[in-house]
Amino acid sequence: MIDRVKATLALDEPVSRVKLVSPARSRALEKLGVRTLRDLVTHFPRSYIDLSRVETCAGARIGEACTIRGAVHEIKLKKPKRNLSLVEIALVDATGVLMVTCFRQPWLMDQIAAGDSVAVSGKVTFDYGYKRMTNPFIEVLGDGQEATGSVVPVHPATEKLSAAWVRRIVANGLAASEGCFDPLPLGLRLRYRLMGRDRALHAIHFPHTMAEADEARRRLVYEELLYLELFLMQEGAARAAGHNPHAHVTDGPRLAAFAAGLPFELTGEQQQARDEILAAMAAPSVANHMLLGDVGTGKTVVAGHALAAAADTGGQAMLLAPTEVLARQHMAGLGERLGAVGVRCALLTGATPAAERTELVEGFASGAIDVLIGTHALLSDDVAPRNLTLAVIDEQQRFGVDQRARLLEKGEAPDALYLTATPIPRTLALALYGNLTLSYIKHRPHDSARRATKVLAREQQGVAFDAAREALSRGEQVFVVCPLVGKDSEARDAKAAGKAPDADAAGEEYHPAVAIEDEADYGADDVTAATREAEMLQRTTFADWSVGLLHGGMGTEAKREVMEAFRAGDIQVLVATTVIEVGVDVPNATVMIVQDADRFGLAQLHQLRGRVGRGEKTAEVFLVSASTREESLARLAAMESTDDGFELAAFDLSLRREGDILGNRQHGASGLKLVNIMRDGAVIEAARADAQALLETDPMLEEPDHKALAREVRLMFARESAVVGG
Ligand code: ADP
Ligand code: MG
Repeated sequence: MIDRVKATLALDEPVSRVKLVSPARSRALEKLGVRTLRDLVTHFPRSYIDLSRVETCAGARIGEACTIRGAVHEIKLKKPKRNLSLVEIALVDATGVLMVTCFRQPWLMDQIAAGDSVAVSGKVTFDYGYKRMTNPFIEVLGDGQEATGSVVPVHPATEKLSAAWVRRIVANGLAASEGCFDPLPLGLRLRYRLMGRDRALHAIHFPHTMAEADEARRRLVYEELLYLELFLMQEGAARAAGHNPHAHVTDGPRLAAFAAGLPFELTGEQQQARDEILAAMAAPSVANHMLLGDVGTGKTVVAGHALAAAADTGGQAMLLAPTEVLARQHMAGLGERLGAVGVRCALLTGATPAAERTELVEGFASGAIDVLIGTHALLSDDVAPRNLTLAVIDEQQRFGVDQRARLLEKGEAPDALYLTATPIPRTLALALYGNLTLSYIKHRPHDSARRATKVLAREQQGVAFDAAREALSRGEQVFVVCPLVGKDSEARDAKAAGKAPDADAAGEEYHPAVAIEDEADYGADDVTAATREAEMLQRTTFADWSVGLLHGGMGTEAKREVMEAFRAGDIQVLVATTVIEVGVDVPNATVMIVQDADRFGLAQLHQLRGRVGRGEKTAEVFLVSASTREESLARLAAMESTDDGFELAAFDLSLRREGDILGNRQHGASGLKLVNIMRDGAVIEAARADAQALLETDPMLEEPDHKALAREVRLMFARESAVVGG
């Protein structure tokens, strides 16, 4: 018993107490989000190499994915272009040679040496006389002592800390936490025939067979979801308990003036959404309303009505956006319209100067500001409204439940409105976000203004430029999106190679992803590439127009200036990195050219193209790609064939192969590591029902059987662990 308590408490000790974790490794682990022993044992593999299904070089079939085990005969670093490095490995086994090419992972040179025994996992191609793999998963097979079965786990690793090291450290971590309590009540474990926690943790890291890994995952996914549901329900109860929910005034003067001042008429769906939202706000209960609508369906203006209603009620509102660019745009658009009808709005972001910040914080505390718009900066403790009655979260899928909780805590039972472009079905929305009322907007306001998407091979990109010049001569504007060429694109490369499950950029938008400020996405290489592209286009293709550049490496002020100039039409061509992905709204922009489009996930491309076709004019999107990979082309073809985000999401799912995916993308909720909301729908619903039943009999989880559960829930969503940033 004492040992079990000890083992359980040890989970929350720093990871540095684990064998092999030096201060340097401890820092590297921190980069992976691993600070405590608990973080370490839940640092799950992102894939497995199934050595029981290893092929030989000679036996490997071209066009199929497999694992090949061999010795490194030679390893070389090449730099064919200034911005491009590749590592080439000649791998040999008793039957032949495999050439392995890894783009943009120069550090492999430090991790792999001639003579090493490695396993590579990926799709086999044939080119220039050799069988090849491009960007496979590579595993250096050590002395074999850490791999207990024929399945080798591949853990997320960093440049400084290879997967092989992570594997060793995780093994030590498991040893150190051996014997800890299983927080799941026995009844639930029996009902679903779930493994005990200890065993599940061992088995997910070091399974003997893939079936064992799946069983372990099943147990751990259920556990994560149960905690999430318990958290949501307890949070919901706490939010309402002992407070007077606000019954908003929804026929006040400012709301009426705001509605009257709009330059367009709301579509039928927008009107319905507005009415549903206002009805939820008017009711004397805590509103929890989600507005789901594809990009460009006009959610912002609908939310504007809610903000005006809060002001009419004498309350205050906050509008939280995931990026600086988006927050500024809301301030410039909505803020302006609201200001015009007497709603006092202000903008607070991480870039707000200290003096101004102090003033804003005071103004908000005194009630001099009605609506505060901003980024994560809003979550800071000293941002304390006098009377918060409404919290609006834009692009809510980008925030975690813990961040949402932090925002809502700033008021007494405030109403909440979430805006999202994530196409999730109703039941999933309910399960993932607690008790909600929902509104859907399915059609864009200018559905008649069509948006056509066209895929072009690199050598055809002249077509895109011609279309762009035509649009420019009509007085319209153009986006050129450069790919990420730096480190961030590795995941995409690997994904394009068809083997990296968690690098599923496309899946990202469909999960409540970790909130990432736009600045985090860029490396120095990207900036160089974007800068060059802009210069080149200004000199050549668009010499007659003014070309601007927007990238995440720019300062806030510089970014703002460029966006303003583009909005005002002083810049006609905007070359940008994906910093424009979310929400940027310039209706006069009608052409978008996405370079190396195969580098982006479907959801991301869809978000990107949502930047054009927002006005009444017809828009054209060109996806330029040099890829010849079947998978990439099929993905891009899907973009061509449908303009509907929901359909794309479904297509995206159909592309993912079972077993290829652990679905362990980090979720917004810092504790959710394994859940894949699309795949685990049934488990989500089961966990929800179980959580409800548990709380019905024991609302505070105080019974002896539930104490461990309560502790886990607390720890999982504790404030300290809230993940902000990349
Ligand atoms: P999203 O739902 O992606 O956040 P936005 O709220 O940014 O979309 O709206 C997209 C564009 O459509 C904006 O330029 C907005 O001003 C415009 N818009 C919204 N509703 C209407 C409408 N009913 N009629 C015309 N344009 C509209
Ligand atoms: Mg929006």
